[in-house]
This record gives sequence, structure tokens and C-alpha cells, in this order.
Amino acid sequence: MDKLIVSDIDGTLLDDGDASMGLVTLRKLFRVNRERVGLVYATGRTFSSTWRLVQDKVLPMPNGIAALVGTELWLAPWQRPDPDYEEHVGRGWDKEKVQEVLSAFAKVLELQPKEYQSGYKMSYFVSDAKIMEDVASALEEAKVGAQTIFSAGKHFDVIPARAGKRHVVEYCRKRWDIEPGNVLVSGDSGNDADMLTDPETMGVIVGNAEDELKDIEESEDIHESKLPYAAGVLEGAQAFGFWPRDQVKKEKK
Ligand SMILES: [Mg+2]
Repeated sequence: MDKLIVSDIDGTLLDDGDASMGLVTLRKLFRVNRERVGLVYATGRTFSSTWRLVQDKVLPMPNGIAALVGTELWLAPWQRPDPDYEEHVGRGWDKEKVQEVLSAFAKVLELQPKEYQSGYKMSYFVSDAKIMEDVASALEEAKVGAQTIFSAGKHFDVIPARAGKRHVVEYCRKRWDIEPGNVLVSGDSGNDADMLTDPETMGVIVGNAEDELKDIEESEDIHESKLPYAAGVLEGAQAFGFWPRDQVKKEKK
């Protein structure tokens, strides 16, 4: 394996929970290139809901699943989150103090369901930018090793500074010894921004991306696809010459 795709799921590979246009082709390309090209899902979903999509053959079998916004990473044999990644994420994270800071905002923060909370993630529904700014600066002031992420116009996550999708990308490519220039990442919303803006990797913003990604500066290492969802991922991969050319032709026949 000398290449890697790290992709978000919802709004990138799936359209409202269903397989999107282009996913069939993408699945085939992964099958044909399994030896050379690795695949990691980086998602806000839980591991079990992602795993269900793989079991139901909606999504191809990956090499890794980074669940809950890159706060945990699951690898085969899929028994538990990778302990080394957990150690990486946990360094400098003071959960008790984070909770203490957040308790001051209890009245204005609406908690997301329990399945989206973990020892490394506190998640809320928020749409008020001012509240999010206040929480972010309170956390920064308290020096508790946290970062905040706003995504899909409503999800507000507080996670360790050393977690998130870009950390997943870096951790996986180092673990599997893959050059950063051989890594393609794809996403559609705010929690994808950190990995998309990594200048060392190829970033693909799908055509249906949320407004949060509109501010990302144009750059050579980012392709803003015209096509939505998986078709947009394919468009970007092609623009970067990611797949071996003969394979793409073969799949088109
Ligand atoms: Mg998404």
C-alpha cells in the first residue's frame, strides 16, 4: 500500500444516508487497487454505525475507521479503538477541567445524544456563532488541551487539540509509511477543514459542500469539485492523477 484516501462519509460518500452517484465506481476502483490504495473513513459517526454501512456493503471495506470526529481510530480486527492513537489524542487533554469550563455554558449549550459523547468528545447543537466563540475562548484561556469544531451548520464539538481528522491522516500515513503527497482527503463540511487544508496532501471538496468550507483559500493542493458527493471525490482524484490511468479507463468501459 503506497497511497491512501481518507474520506468523510456523510455528505461526501453518502447523500442523506444513501449511496451517492459515483460510489459504485469508487467501490470498483478500491477493489481493483486494494493492494496499492488504502482507505480510511474519517467521520462524525460512531464506529458501530459506520461498521453497519460496511457490513451492508454500502461502503467498501476500509483499512481504518476514525469515528467521532477523529477522536478514536479503529483498525482490523476491529475489536477496540487503537490504543496508540488514544494515547496520542489524550496527551494534554484534561477532561475534568474541560467539563468545568463547559459547565458555565450549560444553559446555552444543547447536548447531542449520548452516543455522540465520549471521554474525548463533548458534542452540542449550536447555531449561535457568538456562543461558540465564547466557549472557544474560555477553553483557550483555561489551557485544557481542547479545540472546538463547528460542522454541518449545527454540530459543535469540543475535542482534544491532538484529535480531529488531520491528526488521523497523519497518524495513519506514518503508521503505514505513506508519503504525504500520496494521500488524498475528501470532505464536505467544517469538521473536514483541518485535513483539507493540510498543504502536504491532496484535498477534495465535493460540489455539495457546506458554506463552512467556502472560506477555504484556493490553492494548488485543493480541488473544489463541480460534481457532488462520491462523483466529486472521483472528479478530484482524477484531477490530481491519483489513480493509475489504465485502471480508470478499464473501469469506465
Ligand atoms: Mg460530512
